[in-house]
Amino acid sequence: MPRVGVLALQGDVREHVSMLEDVGADVVTVRRAEQMDDLDGLVLPGGESTTIAYLLTTSGIRPVLERKLEEGFSVFGTCAGLILLSSEILDGRSDQWSYGALDVSVRRNGYGRQIASFESAVDVVGVGPVPGVFIRAPKIETWWGDVEVLATLDHGDGAHPVLVRQKNVWGCSFHPELTNDLRVHELFTSSL
Ligand code: GLN
Repeated sequence: MPRVGVLALQGDVREHVSMLEDVGADVVTVRRAEQMDDLDGLVLPGGESTTIAYLLTTSGIRPVLERKLEEGFSVFGTCAGLILLSSEILDGRSDQWSYGALDVSVRRNGYGRQIASFESAVDVVGVGPVPGVFIRAPKIETWWGDVEVLATLDHGDGAHPVLVRQKNVWGCSFHPELTNDLRVHELFTSSL
């Protein structure tokens, strides 16, 4: 049973905890740096990336996660979590930082604002179509290096990756935790 943390500083923590429990993980809600020990992986939830970034710094978790990412620790970021892991943020706040652990350039709110939120099936490589909930979702505009694209979506302006993986670092634009479909969480936990 993998021991998986959910960063619980802000955002849709509860939904991730419940999905991870349903796929059989031993789940830890992480609020303090010392809770980062002995985890097999970590989920960074959706929420507000600037707020989560601020709380990562004030909680002292920021440098701990940075070191663990360098050491190959597995992290899955959904929506705001993807923004936090990315190498480049477009339309970010001028002082907004990110880990630079996933070689993608993401545009905040790239699919439009809250009112433009939508649901669409997302065809995941090796899994099949899963329901995708997009809420102020970041759009992956470019990617490079050994980033693997596991799903794309064409929302009217050409296909953009919506689920990617670069070795130990995973990111998706949508919210698999807001559906009843466990398969994206299963994909991540089965890699641990
Ligand atoms: N647009 C939000 C941000 O920049 C992310 C939205 C989400 O996680 N649902 O943080």
